[in-house]
Amino acid sequence: MNEEKPKLIVDGKRLDGRSFDELRPIKIEAGILKRADGSCYIEMGKNKIVAAVYGPREVHPKHLQDPSKAVIRYRYNMAPFSVEERKRPGPDRRSIEISKVSKEALEPVIMKELFPRSGIDIFVEVLQADAGTRTACLNAASVALIDAGVAMRGIVTAVAVAKVDGQLVLDPMKEEDNYGEADVPFAFLIRSGKIESITLLQMDGRMTAEELKKALELAKKGAMEIYAVQRDAIMRKYRSEEEVE
Ligand code: ADP
Repeated sequence: MNEEKPKLIVDGKRLDGRSFDELRPIKIEAGILKRADGSCYIEMGKNKIVAAVYGPREVHPKHLQDPSKAVIRYRYNMAPFSVEERKRPGPDRRSIEISKVSKEALEPVIMKELFPRSGIDIFVEVLQADAGTRTACLNAASVALIDAGVAMRGIVTAVAVAKVDGQLVLDPMKEEDNYGEADVPFAFLIRSGKIESITLLQMDGRMTAEELKKALELAKKGAMEIYAVQRDAIMRKYRSEEEVE
């Protein structure tokens, strides 16, 4: 990128008016698709994402089955119209990498051993992207898994922290991601309302070890706030199902 870097922090505020430890507005809705076993729509800032879960169901081809546990497949896909310049449709190196690390971020939470020989397919479609899509997708995928009734040990909640103009900021948007000094997406396994472990941690850019520690604390704070919105979406879905019955 050879455009001139804009000032990302002005008078102690970020370009979109947020404070350093503030998330973008977040909206989550569970069970939005009829044909999938579980689904979720999420907006995190300008990101708009749909997640769909199928399964547990029989795996085809059969040689991919595991007799001891379920096989998890995760496909992250960006729509051609999701970014400013039309993106070439189909998988690329970035989406293959994101699919792999996201699958690994979710695997510890899914009780795979309860579903031998079966498969759980998770599809996430990014309709509009504005940085932090891998984390927003994980938040949606977790809710969609719960919506599908897949047995889980907890929930995965994800958020990134960036370093911009020397300052750590929660949940960076596009300009902060483009021009910042570092970007660190985290995913956490939350169990009984507490952060139990980290299931994804990536970094590009540069930070001191001390800053990374602070970034972790900031991400944990953000994750607990996102967790409350995920929970609320699941509760609303169950309540609306009860009303129909
Ligand atoms: P994440 O979306 O998880 O932050 P990246 O750091 O790789 O992942 O991407 C940051 C942002 O860059 C994306 O959210 C998206 O807005 C933009 N982006 C990613 N890939 C492309 C692409 N092929 N064309 C245009 N913009 C892209």
